[in-house]
Amino acid sequence: MFIDARDLPDGSRLETDLAIVGAGPAGITIARALQGSGRDICLVESGGLTPESDTQALADGECAGIDYPLQASRVRAFGGSSHHWGGFCRPLDPIDFEARDWVPHSGWPFGFATLAPYYARACEILEIAPARFTDAAYWQAASGDTLPEPASGRVATTFVQFSPPTRFGTRYHAVLAEAMYIRVLLHANVCALESTADGRAVSGLAIRTLDGRRLSLAARTVVLATGGLENPRLLLLSDGVAPNGLGNDHDRVGRCFMEHPHLSHFAEIVVADLALLPRVYREQLQVDGRRGQAAFHPSASFLRQRRLLNATFMGGIGTTFAPDAPADTPLAEEQRALLRALGPLMSARGPAREGAPLGHVFNLGCACEQAPDPDSRVTLSTTRDALGLRRLRLDWRLGELDRRSFAAHVRALAQEFGALGIGRTWLDLGDEHSWPITVSGGNHHMGTTRMHADPHQGVVDADCRVHGIDNLYIAGSSVFPTGGAANPTLTLVALALRLADHLGARR
Ligand SMILES: Cc1cc2nc3c(=O)[nH]c(=O)nc-3n(C[C@H](O)[C@H](O)[C@H](O)COP(=O)(O)OP(=O)(O)OC[C@H]3O[C@@H](n4cnc5c(N)ncnc54)[C@H](O)[C@@H]3O)c2cc1C
Repeated sequence: MFIDARDLPDGSRLETDLAIVGAGPAGITIARALQGSGRDICLVESGGLTPESDTQALADGECAGIDYPLQASRVRAFGGSSHHWGGFCRPLDPIDFEARDWVPHSGWPFGFATLAPYYARACEILEIAPARFTDAAYWQAASGDTLPEPASGRVATTFVQFSPPTRFGTRYHAVLAEAMYIRVLLHANVCALESTADGRAVSGLAIRTLDGRRLSLAARTVVLATGGLENPRLLLLSDGVAPNGLGNDHDRVGRCFMEHPHLSHFAEIVVADLALLPRVYREQLQVDGRRGQAAFHPSASFLRQRRLLNATFMGGIGTTFAPDAPADTPLAEEQRALLRALGPLMSARGPAREGAPLGHVFNLGCACEQAPDPDSRVTLSTTRDALGLRRLRLDWRLGELDRRSFAAHVRALAQEFGALGIGRTWLDLGDEHSWPITVSGGNHHMGTTRMHADPHQGVVDADCRVHGIDNLYIAGSSVFPTGGAANPTLTLVALALRLADHLGARR
């Protein structure tokens, strides 16, 4: 059942067994997974069914570090940021879960195997095929191309799948509307979590609407699923009993904000013959009604040996050089000259046919892992939003290991392209101390309520329960201790399913 909070009388007091704050992929997944469990569930959502500018403005804030689009990088409406997401899906790699002595604060409380069954279920929810992420034989058979086999052992192939993309707000609206024991409260902004006098349990939520109503919801259990930036903000705003915010006894809330630094235009690979670079590396292929594309990433042994962070590289054909069209930039002229000289050597088919293109430019893009850094963080600003709540202040920082890892991977990849005869690479990697070009984020907000068995090092435990608070849980990528180089939604949906299992078993 859907209820608009603006239709409830001011001062209304509601009750539920389980309150889930935030109806994005994480919150909706938990509500659906616990549907039929006999619990009364209330999904409390700030927005309406579609994005509205006054609610979206609540996502604004202040940047202290690298500039970041706080409003544009999330959507505050039923369905959350899945209204705008691109659908790129890939699980984390097994090494991403490990404690790596060269990555400070790394190590999940469990390994890939624990999450594997949940990944399979998460694929169904995101409408992609499980077990296609590392299955080179499947993609080889489906595409009809032989995939190159890098010999150095430094670079490996992985496969990204594309969700249709699943828009949670429309895809799962009907099932929630019909669910017997689920109420979805729209236009309901949670302003604070209320706790018992000792701060060891949460008793409910303080809710406000933008038209001035104040409501409260008493709950036996609360799951915070408001995204990687609002989860820490809500804990920090909940300072009625704990002056530093709930779950923040050890000053961990909001720290270790991580993104996947995204870079492009740092490498152009001049390819003489596309036969050496199969189509699945250059564009999305539709197979069995699902879309996928091959990506390059560093092998686990290379990461260990060189003590680097993870990365994912994907590319597409930018320019195709006609045999005698004039080049419009000095770089293009250089590339054409290279193709004239090297093309015949780099071709799989021998001398080029009359009128065939001289060659192509394959443009690479990269999404990098970022190392956890306690100084890269979310705090509260002194400015306030339309509800009178302190806005968030993001200080996103990148460090030396982040930059060094990126540069090492690009060099290894360039050498591999040469060794495989695919092409020659033009690089722009900047100097030792700076990034080559502007770094942006991928709209991935991770790490701000990180998972760790030790309350001095994390905000939630391995069950995603806030340390020291018996009935408060967190869902979403804010619990990732490290973020690997895979887009986060598949993993956060898998974690949400795991949390639902835990809550289902705890009556
Ligand atoms: C443009 C764009 C492209 C993206 N592309 C990809 C991609 O290709 N692959 C990928 O894996 N990820 C992608 N993402 C990220 C992806 O959308 C998020 O990882 C995912 O939506 C996070 O799910 P969530 O449920 O944790 O949070 P959200 O989707 O952010 O949902 C949180 C919900 O909580 C609500 N809320 C917030 N504060 C409150 C409050 N105080 N009270 C009540 N409700 C509140 C919000 O309105 C929202 O509905 C993209 C994001 C954007 C913006």
